[in-house]
Amino acid sequence: NLGTSLKDAVKKLAGKTVIDRAAVDELVRDLQRALLQSDVNVKLVMHLSQAIKQRALDEEPLKGMGVREHVLRIVYQELVRLMGTPGEVALGPQTILMAGLQGSGKTTTTAKLARYFQRKGLRVGVICADTFRPGAYEQLKTLCDRIAVPCFGDPKEADALKIVREGLPKYRKLYEVIIIDTQGRHALEENLIEEIVNINEIAHPDHRWLVIDAALGQQASEQARRFHEAIGIDGVLVTKMDGTAKGGGALSAVAETQSGIVFIGSGETIEDLERFDPDGFISRLLGMGDLKALVERAEEAVSTEDLDVNAMLKGKFTLRDMYKQLEALNKMGPLKQIMSMLPLGGMQIPDDAYDITSTKMQRYKVIMDSMTSPELDDPSMIGSSRIQRIARGAGVTPDDVRDLIKYYKIMQRALKGMRGMGGGKFNMQRMM
Ligand code: GDP
Ligand code: MG
Repeated sequence: NLGTSLKDAVKKLAGKTVIDRAAVDELVRDLQRALLQSDVNVKLVMHLSQAIKQRALDEEPLKGMGVREHVLRIVYQELVRLMGTPGEVALGPQTILMAGLQGSGKTTTTAKLARYFQRKGLRVGVICADTFRPGAYEQLKTLCDRIAVPCFGDPKEADALKIVREGLPKYRKLYEVIIIDTQGRHALEENLIEEIVNINEIAHPDHRWLVIDAALGQQASEQARRFHEAIGIDGVLVTKMDGTAKGGGALSAVAETQSGIVFIGSGETIEDLERFDPDGFISRLLGMGDLKALVERAEEAVSTEDLDVNAMLKGKFTLRDMYKQLEALNKMGPLKQIMSMLPLGGMQIPDDAYDITSTKMQRYKVIMDSMTSPELDDPSMIGSSRIQRIARGAGVTPDDVRDLIKYYKIMQRALKGMRGMGGGKFNMQRMM
């Protein structure tokens, strides 16, 4: 499924020793495969691939951010972009027109939405403007009865426009949120489109939401385009996400209508409706915990500590710099899962270098406090007699001091390695 293959693609990148052009190409290929398998539109996938490659090349990593993290951040941002910004849901008076083909889940979702707004304390009324499907009114009425929401309609009336003309003014006086369920038919016949255009003109709804079955594949684009041209869709509702469906089609609908997913239908009961959260969705998809929070925390940690890796690359790397690095890392929280995202560039750091506990940090701090300024700037001057003095001053063993210096040397070597790789900036252009 989409989640697993995306996760694999990202894991593969995270495990790479060097993030070069080939590594990015491979990641993009893996992403493409995963997205296409999930029925995401080919054009969208190509666009995403281009954007990721282009940005990875053109943009410079944020200060202190490594190439690996830089690339992942772009992948994440472009995926969020692909999902669109989630549609707004105002908790106030509004009229919502439901659009979509028969069987997509309009009637069910109409009732779910009624329940959603009812729970928010709003007075809700529903109008059944589906005069095509036999039993349409009864279906909606039965669902609405369960939640004590009034349902306007007439099973004997054949004119949907008449129902809206009658029901809407009446309900607008009585209720705050009004949801209009419409017919869908099986295909995009002209009279279906014509009818919804007319309902839209009569009702002047605040929202025109398109209901899309998660199982819908490449046809989603066409459907969305037709409805969008007809009435201007401003939100997408994806139904049946509880099934095996991949939901890739919904992304096409989002792109086609330039809107966003508003809600997700996740089951057959009236409560099975969730607000769409792209960040959480993608983080789950990539299997990296809360990736957004991680990226933000990394940015924050980096900026508060003002880590300037580029300056460090050009100039000298002092013990003070190293301590700043460690502090920044510590702020990022649990490191195990994000080892590959160190704000130290794409360089390789021996595994034990990650093994810095806060106790160790504390000890390092105490040791550094009993060093002189020149020693902090140039630890190479620290010989065995200085080690003895520092250890005594800090109340630690000489081995503790040696441990700190050893750690410093590992970091320094890694930085040197990086310097040899490409120069001052993480110049992807040169690397790719
Ligand atoms: P409409 O023709 O667009 O009004 O579609 P319906 O609301 O009648 O739904 C068609 C079928 O899909 C019904 O059997 C619903 O129970 C089912 N359905 C709708 N939404 C969901 C959902 O989120 N999950 C599941 N499992 N089934 C759904
Ligand atoms: Mg229906």
